[in-house]
Amino acid sequence: MTSACSNNPLLSSSFLLKSPKLPNVSIFFPKFSNPISPMNSNNKAPTGNSKNPTQRRSKSPGKYKPRYGTSRKSTLKKSLSQEQVNFTKPIPDDPVVGIIGGGMSGLTCALYLEKRGIRSTVFDTGIHGLGGRMGTRMIDHQPLIFDHAAQFFTVTNPKFAELVDDWLNRGLVREWQGRIGELEVGGHFVPFPSSPPKYIGVNGMRPLADSLLSQTSLVNVVRPCWVSTLEPFNGTWHLSEKEKPCGQFDAIVIAHNGKCANRLLASSGLPLIARQMKRLELSPIWALLAAFEDPLPTALNAESLPFEGAFVKGVESVSWMANNSKKLLGRDSGPQCWTFFSTAAFGKQNKVPQESIPAATAERVKEVMLEGVEKALGLSKSSLQRPFYTRLQLWGAALPTNTPGIPCIFDPQGRAGICGDWLLGSSLEAAAISGIALADHIADYFEQGGPCSDEFAVGLHDEYKPLGGHDIGQFPGLESVDQTTKAPALTLTT
Ligand SMILES: Cc1cc2nc3c(=O)[nH]c(=O)nc-3n(C[C@H](O)[C@H](O)[C@H](O)COP(=O)(O)OP(=O)(O)OC[C@H]3O[C@@H](n4cnc5c(N)ncnc54)[C@H](O)[C@@H]3O)c2cc1C
Repeated sequence: MTSACSNNPLLSSSFLLKSPKLPNVSIFFPKFSNPISPMNSNNKAPTGNSKNPTQRRSKSPGKYKPRYGTSRKSTLKKSLSQEQVNFTKPIPDDPVVGIIGGGMSGLTCALYLEKRGIRSTVFDTGIHGLGGRMGTRMIDHQPLIFDHAAQFFTVTNPKFAELVDDWLNRGLVREWQGRIGELEVGGHFVPFPSSPPKYIGVNGMRPLADSLLSQTSLVNVVRPCWVSTLEPFNGTWHLSEKEKPCGQFDAIVIAHNGKCANRLLASSGLPLIARQMKRLELSPIWALLAAFEDPLPTALNAESLPFEGAFVKGVESVSWMANNSKKLLGRDSGPQCWTFFSTAAFGKQNKVPQESIPAATAERVKEVMLEGVEKALGLSKSSLQRPFYTRLQLWGAALPTNTPGIPCIFDPQGRAGICGDWLLGSSLEAAAISGIALADHIADYFEQGGPCSDEFAVGLHDEYKPLGGHDIGQFPGLESVDQTTKAPALTLTT
């Protein structure tokens, strides 16, 4: 199932880019209020191998400037000044979709395309596995295990419930029976009721992601692969990693967000999609993974049982803590592996480039977060045992803070769509529903022959609104005692 980009069967000679003869791509300008330059009248598609795919841009190649380091306003302007791609070639009998991103949304999109008989290839950057923000770190020789992004999920949507039932039957997920609740600074723990059920990946979230497509036959997975260019040519999308072709597709799905997606879309010929993506705002979160020789004192008074997971209240440096050893291995003795997440506010205050965290910042953040754990548990100063293993990670674009509140986005002219958690919320459930919605929408669109008509346009102009929930996302059905913005029950309509 999993193969490197170079082993991709789509890279057989029939899939390699051909020189332009009769391009089936035309170019038109969307109706924006800001004026843009005249249409490229020769109707020529950019060549797939072109190092300078500027024919869709309204500016001359010489004026092209990198999009990084520019203001939000100016990058927005640049996205809008792209020329819109318009595919006119009929959809073939056996179309194939390129999905860029192998997190929950991209994987469910592939799964539901398969259910409609449509082939797809999922590209993902993951070196250790699929999943994106469903990350699990395992250190074999200890053994230590940590879910280092998504922790657990709840289910409210009937389509998602169907999917989760299947995972339960296949032994991929199970209910988390441990005590989860809210921990007030000073060690006051209030457990959540057992309903709604809380689910976890049996061996962690990443193994769940890696298993989601194990029963498919129409899905190809290419990883690790960082799709760096999208080019419309001869009626299909040509994807490449740096300059290495990754195949050609009848439609594409952008199943990731943030800087990476903005960069990919900046000169793609999809100005409406690029504009919607750029409106998304994301909050950073620090994750501290720590292993302790002895159990942490989580039975906070003589009568209470130890807790396994807690949303922390009243401490700025910590918003969540969970005992992975108990959650994933059911282990009461031996080292305890804990995941601690900061609040979004703390993430923002201490934000640095996530690829190169200065050592001094890492040390300070780690110490402040451990102090936060101490305070949350109501321990006296400096009495928390020192962890024998720590790993600090910054999720620079952890969670969305605004949303258009629609299941997916689709541009029928450009034969491109977006799915992801942020379209509806900030949870695995939202991501899955979005992937399912986009798959069904693309399948309907293909069934109609791939019309350019507005009938199939979704979410290209929707406004955004702020998104509430916990600092680590939404858990529909599990409302916090004092949570002001409740996560909505998610519906699936496009
Ligand atoms: C710290 C943290 C804690 C969380 N806790 C919970 C929780 O307990 N419960 C819950 O329900 N949700 C939680 N969430 C949210 C949840 O993880 C996300 O909502 C969900 O995983 C998003 O899935 P996605 O498919 O939309 O995006 P992602 O998971 O981000 O997937 C996108 C994928 O695309 C890949 N990609 C990016 N660019 C490219 C490219 N150019 N080429 C190829 N691949 C590319 C990325 O590497 C990534 O694998 C948490 C998130 C964070 C950060």
